[in-house]
Amino acid sequence: MFRALLLEQDADGAVTNRVAELDEAQLPEGDVLVDVEYSTVNYKDGLAIKNLNRVVRSFPMVPGVDFAGKVAESSHPDFAAGDRVVLNGWGVGESHWGGYAQKARVPGDWLVTLPDAFSTEQAMAVGTAGYTSMLAVLALEEHDVTPDKGPIVVTGSSGGVGSTAIAILGKLGYEVVASTGRVGEADYLRGLGASEVIDRDELSGESPPLATGRWAGAVDAVGSTTLANILAATLENGCVAACGLAQGADLPTTVMPFILRGVTLAGINSVMVPRIRRRLCWERLGTDLDPDLLADMTTVEPLDALPRLADEILAGHIRGRVVIDVNA
Ligand code: NDP
Repeated sequence: MFRALLLEQDADGAVTNRVAELDEAQLPEGDVLVDVEYSTVNYKDGLAIKNLNRVVRSFPMVPGVDFAGKVAESSHPDFAAGDRVVLNGWGVGESHWGGYAQKARVPGDWLVTLPDAFSTEQAMAVGTAGYTSMLAVLALEEHDVTPDKGPIVVTGSSGGVGSTAIAILGKLGYEVVASTGRVGEADYLRGLGASEVIDRDELSGESPPLATGRWAGAVDAVGSTTLANILAATLENGCVAACGLAQGADLPTTVMPFILRGVTLAGINSVMVPRIRRRLCWERLGTDLDPDLLADMTTVEPLDALPRLADEILAGHIRGRVVIDVNA
């Protein structure tokens, strides 16, 4: 038997959650059984627990889009009992039982061997938010946005994607402009590596087609008019990595930044990333994310705190990263 957060749907479609004792035989198919040690709270997990945006497609469901732990049993050629592994995405916690449990059974092709640089707890302090921000930084680099090209603006900067993006970019030598609704967190954001902190209201109004160029690139976690304003103020041949929709899923922009300034809008989808790129991402996180900064931005909570944490992340009240100790 093992403990898990279980989402169940009744005959009227109402969804409830509870911490349940489950049997290993109830786990979904897969060639690797993992003793989960830690999971984390991402924005999508908040949506899943609150049954919003149709994140969860079938019930009962164990949510949790990521986890880190040790292999308990494996018939996959790449993994053996005792291996330390991490999983992000692939529909885990949405259509396949996920990380808010002491055990998970998954296809081994979804797992990545955890680099020695990370404990399983640190891996989940990074979590899908940090891994997504690394994917965004890779996109900037691949579009030749190097630190000498100009500042990078990071939106939703007190959140998980934003905080880790600032820490990575700062360590890589970029000048980082942090956009936040919580200007009271300016010291926290500067401590992570931001050189300037701006109020997100500066970027959330209606956008002109083009504005004076301010940044060479962006990591945007919020979408909507903010993303439009960022595109309009991106310098020649800059690149904007679009990761999220905390403000909204709309994008009221024009083609002007693309055809007059050669700006690239790079889409980031962390869920379906080939294994080779995942390995690269985790290796880069091992070198480009300062473990002390990671510790500063992280708190650890037990499994039964999840319903409260779901409300908090959806309200934009969580700062940095929250790790879930599934054995606490
Ligand atoms: P968090 O809740 O930790 O961070 C989101 C931040 O966005 C908040 O902390 C807040 O930052 C800001 N924000 C909240 N509401 C608004 C608003 N109405 N207008 C403008 N800014 C707002 O979530 P995550 O960092 O985990 O995720 C951020 C986004 O990225 C989410 O939309 C999530 O779905 C998406 N995401 C996408 C992934 C992908 O694969 N593409 C993977 C992971 C996440 P502040 O207070 O500093 O303004």
